[in-house]
Amino acid sequence: MREARAAKLGHCRLVTTVGDMHKPKQTLESSAILSGSAFGCPRQFLGNRFVYAVISSRARGLSIGVNMNPDKLCNFDCEYCEVNRIAPSLEKDLDLAVITEELQRTLELAHSGELKRIHYYRHLPPDLLQLRHVALSGDGEPTLCHQFLDVVREVIHLRALSHFPFFKIVLITNAAGLDAPQVLEGLNLFTHKDEIWAKLDAGSQQHMDSVNHPRGCKLEKILENILLVARQRPVIIQSLFPLLHDEEPAAEDIDQYAMRLRHLKKAGAQIPLVQIYSATRPTARSGCRHLPLKALSLIARRVREISGLATEVF
Ligand code: SF4
Repeated sequence: MREARAAKLGHCRLVTTVGDMHKPKQTLESSAILSGSAFGCPRQFLGNRFVYAVISSRARGLSIGVNMNPDKLCNFDCEYCEVNRIAPSLEKDLDLAVITEELQRTLELAHSGELKRIHYYRHLPPDLLQLRHVALSGDGEPTLCHQFLDVVREVIHLRALSHFPFFKIVLITNAAGLDAPQVLEGLNLFTHKDEIWAKLDAGSQQHMDSVNHPRGCKLEKILENILLVARQRPVIIQSLFPLLHDEEPAAEDIDQYAMRLRHLKKAGAQIPLVQIYSATRPTARSGCRHLPLKALSLIARRVREISGLATEVF
């Protein structure tokens, strides 16, 4: 079996691994050579208040994001979170008109090629500058945003105007609020091309507590919410495994996590892919580092063995 192809290039460690078909999916090594540390770099707001651009390995290129939580509201406090919650928020509320205007402007930058003129993107290869999706994400948990449905409607309306080529919408969530009525209503507006990427970092409450520090949210609830939505439409699972205080996750924790995935699948969850990765961007806390690639590959193998799901390591 070809386990993984990895490239460690400057600061950028980039991997493509196998799915359950045991075939490499796509090699990004050539892009990585040119992009250097682009995947580990922070979001660029380009003068905007709510809309940003980021080069994302999991998106395989340019992701334009809407910061759904400028107030930094989240019910997790992940060890690896990049958001500095000590610094006060610059924005408290979303402004739909401004979001639409900024999204439009950023889409124009991406499609016109103007983005390449910005020094940050100047040396990136064209494939990394191709727009892969518009993400509903941000400095907190998007499903907790009380304007979630309004934002979804606004983005879908902009897409329907067809001023730009069709873009996929991706909701990036910790799954805690996936069962909220306005979130379910918003997801009903998604097309089959739009995606949900749901976080699942642990298979036991104890492990989840040590990595995600959830507030008022239990692992069982996260699993219920993923199942609720994944019975209706495919959900991509995102799992981040950090090296915490120089310790790799225990084998028992990994097996419990893989068993949870197996149960989800058996209960009818449609999970086309499990993305396995580690902390790459600077985190707000110290003590959290990138897990060695070999460890990530072993986790992916365990997931495939136990759950039979396709995995990719980043
Ligand atoms: S769920 Fe996301 S925003 Fe919330 S603490 Fe974790 S990484 Fe940060």
